[in-house]
Amino acid sequence: MTYDVIVVGGGNAALCAALAAQEVAKKVLVLERAPEDEAGGNSRFTAGLFRLAYRGPDDLKQLIPDLTPQEIENTDFGTYTEEQFLDDMARVTEYRCDPDLTEILVKRSFPTVKWMRERGVRFTAAWGRQAFKVGGKFKFWGGLTVEAVGGGPGLVESLTRIAQKSGIEVRYGARALSLIADDAGVHGVVVKHNGKTQRVEGKAVVLAAGGFQANTEWRTRYMGPGWELAKVRGTRFNTGDAIRMALDVGAAAHGNWSGCHAVAWDRNAPEFGDLAVGDAFQKHSYPWGVYINADGKRFVDEGADFRNYTYAKYGRVILTQPKQFAWQIFDAKVKQQLRDEYRIKQVTKIAGNTLEELVSKMDDTDQKAALETLKKYNAAVRQDIPFNPNVKDGRRTEGLDVNKSNWANTLDTPPFEAYAVTCGITFSFGGLKITNDAQVINSDGEVIRGLYAAGELVGGIFWFNYPGGSGLTNGAVFGRIAGANAGKAAAG
Ligand SMILES: Cc1cc2nc3c(=O)[nH]c(=O)nc-3n(C[C@H](O)[C@H](O)[C@H](O)COP(=O)(O)OP(=O)(O)OC[C@H]3O[C@@H](n4cnc5c(N)ncnc54)[C@H](O)[C@@H]3O)c2cc1C
Repeated sequence: MTYDVIVVGGGNAALCAALAAQEVAKKVLVLERAPEDEAGGNSRFTAGLFRLAYRGPDDLKQLIPDLTPQEIENTDFGTYTEEQFLDDMARVTEYRCDPDLTEILVKRSFPTVKWMRERGVRFTAAWGRQAFKVGGKFKFWGGLTVEAVGGGPGLVESLTRIAQKSGIEVRYGARALSLIADDAGVHGVVVKHNGKTQRVEGKAVVLAAGGFQANTEWRTRYMGPGWELAKVRGTRFNTGDAIRMALDVGAAAHGNWSGCHAVAWDRNAPEFGDLAVGDAFQKHSYPWGVYINADGKRFVDEGADFRNYTYAKYGRVILTQPKQFAWQIFDAKVKQQLRDEYRIKQVTKIAGNTLEELVSKMDDTDQKAALETLKKYNAAVRQDIPFNPNVKDGRRTEGLDVNKSNWANTLDTPPFEAYAVTCGITFSFGGLKITNDAQVINSDGEVIRGLYAAGELVGGIFWFNYPGGSGLTNGAVFGRIAGANAGKAAAG
């Protein structure tokens, strides 16, 4: 049987590609390596947060029609303009993000999420994670306002249901092994399904099978020594298969191959993500506390920026600390402000009524140095500047080797708590090179006919760091473009 479009992968990028392909082509097949109960890739592990440009509540109402007048009244949604999104991308990637692809990502962010809504995916506002209530009103602070109803699991379930209802065939436990290709381009995929290797012919193929972060050997080979020690936050199935398949037929390698998105992740979390826990092994409230490493020292500016702009690069910083871990320390003043993930039962946490008691429980750590560091930190806080979580408040420390630039509260109110974290890798940044139409480019700079790519496995967009919530938007925007163009190529 020959398909019009074969999509490799079963996450957000793949399902958006399949839906867009099916709007122009007839026979669309999705090959998902994972069995059905583990399907959905990293997308399923997410909170479902989408970064998108919007001009205010009227735009948001198009994505969230059930937003009530009271909710609008009680919330300062602000705006997140295309210029702000572009600036954020440029700044956090140190001006290396591909200008064309980034412009497409930004300009298509709102229309793409609107298209998803029109296709039946439901969204809401992320009051729980991205807004703080000050003076009786919620205020969004980080350019990240919209999330899928039901988070990542809700998103994948909904996209899958819509795809299947539209007549798209989804095969689970179907691992793509290689591309069927000749001088004229790509004509299908060799796949292992239920233990049987078979050829599936297709007029066009979309690769959306994620990065290589779950491949220990590639991680160490491309990111460097020590990366075999990181934990994988999400799916165990993203081992770089589709990147390899494309390279095998001549595709160019592109982007930040030694770079990745990596965060603070519970020190005792399992080797790969656990769908029952989702993203809750992450520990993202460090801007309200301090980090201490095994030498008892601070090593990073916890308040350099809003967490959306620092969390994705701080995992790497933690990995390079002695014994690859660190403590996040808070006092009772900020307890209410800690994110829900601090209250899960699978958490590595100690507590004490004095800093001395807390430090005495910090195993694997130079406790004397840690106590000294905390006392010096307390003495260096500019207490005359008021604390405000909604803005970069400039409440800082002065005179330390590593200063904290914002939100520097003294640790003075018991009980004190410390959480042990290590590095959790989210996804690799290096991958394939694509055109603005999501066609894969070969190492001679030519398009490989019939081959398209989207999502984590595309290189050139993210470098060093990443603005929170851009991964799903990236997958949706380029998934839709890849699918639509693959569909057109197959139909025409
Ligand atoms: C814990 C966690 C939380 C996150 N939270 C957010 C968030 O809130 N917002 C956000 O924007 N981003 C978030 N991210 C990042 C986001 O998950 C990714 O950027 C995005 O989901 C990538 O989508 P994708 O479709 O490219 O890849 P994936 O969703 O990972 O999909 C890849 C798919 O390919 C399949 N596959 C792999 N190999 C093969 C093969 N050989 N044959 C067939 N199929 C194959 C996999 O099984 C999987 O279904 C988070 C990531 C994690 C891990």
